[in-house]
Amino acid sequence: MADDSINHARRGFLRGQFKSATPPPLRPPWALPEAEFLRKCTRCNNCAIICPTKIIVMQDGYPRIDFTVAACTFCGECVRVCTPAALRRDEGAPPWSIKASVNEKCLAQRGVECRVCGEHCEVDAIRFPPRLDAPPLPVIDATTCTGCGACVSVCPTKAIRVG
Ligand code: SF4
Ligand code: SF4
Ligand code: SF4
Repeated sequence: MADDSINHARRGFLRGQFKSATPPPLRPPWALPEAEFLRKCTRCNNCAIICPTKIIVMQDGYPRIDFTVAACTFCGECVRVCTPAALRRDEGAPPWSIKASVNEKCLAQRGVECRVCGEHCEVDAIRFPPRLDAPPLPVIDATTCTGCGACVSVCPTKAIRVG
C-alpha cells in the first residue's frame, strides 16, 4: 500500500469510518439489551422451537426475528421457556420499540392501488389518506404500531421494514 493510502486508512480509522455500521439482529421480544442478552443467552434454541408462528430463527447460534415468515402475536412463550432470562418480561414492559416503515418499493408509490398491509394490521396503525388523481399511500402511525410485523410478509413488493 502506498504511503498516501496508509495515511488515508489511518485517518478513516481514527474518525471511526471503519466501525461496523451494522445494527445487531432483531432479538425476540422482551430481550435484554444486546450485550447483556449475548452474555445470558445459552443458545439453547428453546425460544425458536416454542414460537408458534416460527418467526424466531437462529443466526450465528443466537435467535433473531424474521418477519418475512409471519408476525409476532406477543404470546410470551419465548420468554416463558428462556430459563437464563435473556428474554425477561417485567410487569408492564413493552416487548420492544421497533416500528414499521414503508419504502419506495410500495406499489401505491408507483401508482398502483394496494392496501394489503392495512388490511392485515390488527391495530389499524396503517391509514390511507386520499390523494387527488393517485392511489392513496400507506401512512404508519408510529404511536399505534406495535412492531408485530404482520404487514411485512403480506406486502407483495417487500416494501415494509420493521426495525
Ligand atoms: S412472543 Fe410468541 S409469537 Fe412472538 S416471538 Fe415470542 S413465541 Fe414467537
Ligand atoms: S402492502 Fe406493500 S405495496 Fe401494498 S400498500 Fe402496503 S406497503 Fe404498499
Ligand atoms: S408492524 Fe404490526 S402494528 Fe405495525 S403497522 Fe405493521 S401490522 Fe400494524
